[in-house]
Amino acid sequence: MEPAHDLQGKKITIIGSGVSGKGLASLAAGLGASVFVTERKHLDEDARNLFRKKGVAWEEDGHSDRACDADLVVAGSGISPSAPVIIEARKKGIPVTGELDFIAPFLRGKVIGVTGSNGKSTTTALLGHMLSRKGFAVSIAGNIGTSLADSAFKEWDYIVVELSSFQLYWNSCLSCCVAVVTNLAPDHIDWHGSYEEYVRAKARIITTQGGSGMVIVQERDRAALGVASSDERIVCFSWKGEFPDRCEKAILADENSRSVYFRTGKNEEKLFGFDDLPLIGKHNIENGSMAAGVLHLLGENGIPDLFSGFGGLPHRCEKVAHIGGLLFIDDSKGTNVASTCTALTSIEGPKAIILGGQGKGEDYAPLAETVRKEAAAAVVMGEERGKIADALRQAGYDRIFEAEGMEDAVKKAVSALSGKGVVLLSPACTSWDMYPNYKKRGEHFKSIVLSLEKRL
Ligand code: ADP
Repeated sequence: MEPAHDLQGKKITIIGSGVSGKGLASLAAGLGASVFVTERKHLDEDARNLFRKKGVAWEEDGHSDRACDADLVVAGSGISPSAPVIIEARKKGIPVTGELDFIAPFLRGKVIGVTGSNGKSTTTALLGHMLSRKGFAVSIAGNIGTSLADSAFKEWDYIVVELSSFQLYWNSCLSCCVAVVTNLAPDHIDWHGSYEEYVRAKARIITTQGGSGMVIVQERDRAALGVASSDERIVCFSWKGEFPDRCEKAILADENSRSVYFRTGKNEEKLFGFDDLPLIGKHNIENGSMAAGVLHLLGENGIPDLFSGFGGLPHRCEKVAHIGGLLFIDDSKGTNVASTCTALTSIEGPKAIILGGQGKGEDYAPLAETVRKEAAAAVVMGEERGKIADALRQAGYDRIFEAEGMEDAVKKAVSALSGKGVVLLSPACTSWDMYPNYKKRGEHFKSIVLSLEKRL
């Protein structure tokens, strides 16, 4: 059954009751389907209330046979193709589709897709901000926290959607007029099985585009994503001097002139100066360049003015408080090795870093190397603390402190710095062993820091 077809009276099972599951269930119910949500874990109160209101049936704490009594099964974001319920549905011959394919036929507006290992949310939010400042009707959706399904049937100029590798794995219908891949680094290897498979899923943002769709990628990732430099739809980002000019169209960040340029052939046009961007760190120059590149491709100019008023997102290298000589930074969203290494190298001064949580199957050797160069102390906690500590020791680093939880971690980080420096929460791991999500982890860190501020 094609998802775009009439769903009136059709039995649809949605797997998962998170943000995407809730959105899918509402959309399907609104289309007249008989909707059943099946959830491996416990349902949250929001989900219960929403499903009651929409007339959606559900089950929780596991999947029963009823999950496969359906005309169509829709996998919510993050659902693995090897989940037993998907395997069972396929065995029974029930069509299985992903979130994006289910929603795509109901979207009204040009889709700009943003994926990558790090910087997705920042780039998505910044793009949305810039397009809104231009006066366009813009929806900012997807992995950033708002279900893409909520954008359905409304008229938009642009739908800016953050896409995870999980969502893209299932994608064959959602076609982006501009596709952005911010960067590639190992992440979610446990889900995809290998780095190659992870990159293959990310590349689906490009392989599913129509003929006229444009693509912005890092020059260093271009080959891995399977795009040729001769392809005229490709715009490559790089730091000036890092790569020979290979693509006809390029976005170049120049550290000498502290400016970013769009180059077409021999023609170079300045997009913005580094100081125009109200965000800290070299990584954000890359995010800003990608967003500015999209605006340029859409024929918009005046980039510096479009940046103004953008304050960044919480839990991404966010300054929490200055207490005495100590600065506390919440980078709870630093959930993989690459993002934590970025935070460590972007932030100046002596640093005590708080690491650990639930692992994603990553190699911690590159993290250990960066910690050795950049951090005065490392506090390790959570499920991965032993593994991270081992990697640090192997790199010849011994300023390691083991902590029982966040409060203990903050205490140990503070005392390791003896009054001066940066306490940086950037765990390189997910929060799921200790918190429901990275936001709760970041908020807990902040509340501990703020109570410290009151005591001192
Ligand atoms: P994502 O949505 O891909 O997880 P975010 O924009 O939420 O990315 O940023 C998460 C973390 O990733 C940040 O706190 C920062 O440490 C790191 N980061 C952000 N942008 C980049 C980038 N362009 N390159 C490397 N690391 C980045």
